[in-house]
This record gives sequence, structure tokens and C-alpha cells, in this order.
Amino acid sequence: MDNINSINWKKNLETRAGSIGINLDNHLIDQIAIFASELIDSNKKVNLTAITDAEEIAEKHILDSLIPSKYIPANASVIDLGTGGGFPGIPLKIFMPSLSFSLVDSSRKKINFLKYVIRILNLQTIFAYQFRVEELSIHPDFAGQFDVVISRAFTSLERFLVLAAPLIKPEGFIIAMKGKEVQKELDALDAAKTGINVYKINDRKFKLQVEKYRLPVSGDDRSLVIARNHFL
Ligand code: SAH
Repeated sequence: MDNINSINWKKNLETRAGSIGINLDNHLIDQIAIFASELIDSNKKVNLTAITDAEEIAEKHILDSLIPSKYIPANASVIDLGTGGGFPGIPLKIFMPSLSFSLVDSSRKKINFLKYVIRILNLQTIFAYQFRVEELSIHPDFAGQFDVVISRAFTSLERFLVLAAPLIKPEGFIIAMKGKEVQKELDALDAAKTGINVYKINDRKFKLQVEKYRLPVSGDDRSLVIARNHFL
């Protein structure tokens, strides 16, 4: 197994990212490597990740986090709910520096880790907040403020849509990063279906688009569910 700071680990990350159409230059790779080493280091004290193998971190945390980048416009304001150790938020921000980012988690220890990482990487226009997501919809700094609300492994699709909807601008959208169980989550929404790919949840209508992808090393299936306000 290659160590995260080794040339091999960095080279592999660059090659695999390239294979899925994501070009990482040396500066980005270095920033990602610093983040990943700090994650492993802090994970001994704070529970940030169940995955600790360097290769798996590259694929399942870093590359997976970068997949949504092609759906996110430059300069967008993005909020990552239940970000944990910073996924997908930190890799996305490193890769797309023009984004402004809010990272939210209820765990103070995780937020302290993220504040530390933001500081040592000297990342700008990204802030980590300790909040319960349920509190955000009535908070003036968060309600209706975002172009994109994203999360991975936070909660069910339905609950995420309910929590995320009050945070987006009218033309904003929501991205749920899901595994291969996505069909089950869509089936669970069946009762709310009111048209082709249109669902009525909590008096709001959403149009859903599902994008499937496969991780390049393990071949694991993943998907993105992209939800937009449906005004008709
Ligand atoms: N998104 C990360 C972490 C997923 S684990 C990843 O994909 O690796 C889920 C995270 O959500 C945990 O860090 C937990 O602290 C946080 N969380 C759970 N319920 C929450 C809530 N109600 N409000 C804010 N954060 C919450």
C-alpha cells in the first residue's frame, strides 16, 4: 500500500482522476494529499472516516467527491450538509476554488478538524459551521441562500430533500450522492410521484434526474440524484 505522501499515491490519483475526465495539476494533488494525511492523522482521535487504506481514500473519498463537479457551475454558492470529515466539500472546493462553500455538521470535533484543514490549506471563501441541519431553514444566513445543496451519506433521499429545499435559491438545485441502493430510495418516494420524474414532498414539487456512475478501481456503482424545483 502506498503512503499518502508518496509520489506513487499522488501519481495514481492523478491517473485515475484523468481516467474519469478530471484533470488534477500538481498543486491540486499536493493540497489533496495534505488534506488526506491530516484526515488519517486526526482519525486516530476523532472518528472522521471508516476507510483508512490510502488507495481506498483516493478512490472512495477523493475521486467520488469530485464527480459532482461537472454539474456545479463556477462561482456557485454551495452548502454541504452532514459533511463529516469534509466529503464531498473539501475535495470539491480544492478542485473548484471559485466556489463559495459552507460545510455543516452537528459534531463539534469534526467542525474543529475542518476549520484546521481550511486554515492550513489557506482555503478562501469556505467556512465550517457546527449546526444541526434542522436549524438552518429558519436561519437568515442559510435560508434561500444557496445555488447548490449537496450531501453524501447523510440521510434518506426524502429527508434530505425536505431539509435542503428551504436552503436553495429559487433556481438552485440539490445533489444527493447515493450508492447502488438509489432505486430503493426512489421507490420509497413512489407515493409522492405526481408526474414523470416529478415528486411532491412537503408541498413542494421537485423534478429528479438520476446520474449513474462507476468508481474506476473498485467498480462500485454510485449515483447522483439531482433535484430541481418544479414550478408547474
Ligand atoms: N458526508 C460525509 C459524512 C457522512 S456521515 C461522508 O460522506 O463521508 C454523516 C454525518 O452527518 C456525520 O458526520 C454526522 O455528524 C452528521 N449529522 C448527522 N445528523 C446530523 C444533523 N441532524 N445535522 C448535522 N449533521 C448531522
